[in-house]
Amino acid sequence: MIIVMKATATENQIETVAKRLQDLGFKTILNRGDVMTVIAAIGDKRLIETESLESMEGVKQILPIQEPFKMAGREAHPQDTVIRFNNGVSIGGNSNFVVMAGPCSIESDPNLLFQIADTVKASGAQFLRGGAFKPRTSPYDFQGLEEEGLKQLAAARERTGLLVITEVMDSQEVPLVAEYSDILQVGTRNMQNFKLLKAVGRQNKPVMLKRGLSATVREFLLAAEHILYQGNEQVILCERGIRGYDNTFTRNVLDLAIVPVLKRTSHLPVIVDPSHATGHRYLVPPMVNASVFSGADGVMMEVHYDPDKALSDGAQSLTLDQFKAVMENLNKVTAFYKELKQPECLINA
Ligand code: PEP
Ligand code: MN
Repeated sequence: MIIVMKATATENQIETVAKRLQDLGFKTILNRGDVMTVIAAIGDKRLIETESLESMEGVKQILPIQEPFKMAGREAHPQDTVIRFNNGVSIGGNSNFVVMAGPCSIESDPNLLFQIADTVKASGAQFLRGGAFKPRTSPYDFQGLEEEGLKQLAAARERTGLLVITEVMDSQEVPLVAEYSDILQVGTRNMQNFKLLKAVGRQNKPVMLKRGLSATVREFLLAAEHILYQGNEQVILCERGIRGYDNTFTRNVLDLAIVPVLKRTSHLPVIVDPSHATGHRYLVPPMVNASVFSGADGVMMEVHYDPDKALSDGAQSLTLDQFKAVMENLNKVTAFYKELKQPECLINA
């Protein structure tokens, strides 16, 4: 970082700031200009609260010289992260576009989950999704089957060969969910639950981190950074819509421009979830197609055998037939996208 000293800073103030940085393990380089002095501090910025430095006598401004996400950012990691699974499926880099699909919640009858899973598999998706621990806005809504739901997911994986992804809400439950699931999902409401981020970062299953309801790109990538910092390099980012001012027609605002932004700034794979982003099933197919063209590595969709009877998010869940139709189109859309010549500015992103 760069510490810009005030033009009026005294020699003593400059030396005190430089000494403070050195004591914290920074290497300091003083650049004495005609008008003001600038101190370049090289080292681990986590060792210092920039606010406390900013309030020191004689300091005018602190300028970061690097993006704060050292591990999630492309600067230190130019090549794309590719997450590989035992069955040959991979996410990120030049991998094929992946699809994660299934019900919002896992409900009581396993045969109904199997019915959905069979369609998900037959249509060419790679992952079965389904919530067992449900973060519900109201305590009066269905809260999920917890471990019983995880068991159903594992049985569906056994039956179909699909990989499974499910949400973990609590750091204490990470080992349990990791026992059953191939990817751990951290939901939008928990994007800044730092204890949970640390806990999923300390285990070795891939983690899909959903963007917080109103998270900036910086907050999103710093949340990913928490997971990476604990040693887990297998992090997937998921755009699922952010809060807008008008939810009359759409549940959230699907921020598709964040996909190329994340691709440029980070090496991590990006998935788009048009179901939670839009809240209405008729909006899911066009937004799936748009996700392909945004450069995403895959999509997550909610699918139900009878959406009207779903215990959660029925309005945004596709029927099995609608899902099949989306998947047929998707093959054509991804093939067409691959043929497109990408503009130079995107290639160099
Ligand atoms: C989900 O995917 O089941 C879910 C609750 O999503 P979100 O965290 O994006 O609301
Ligand atoms: Mn849902």
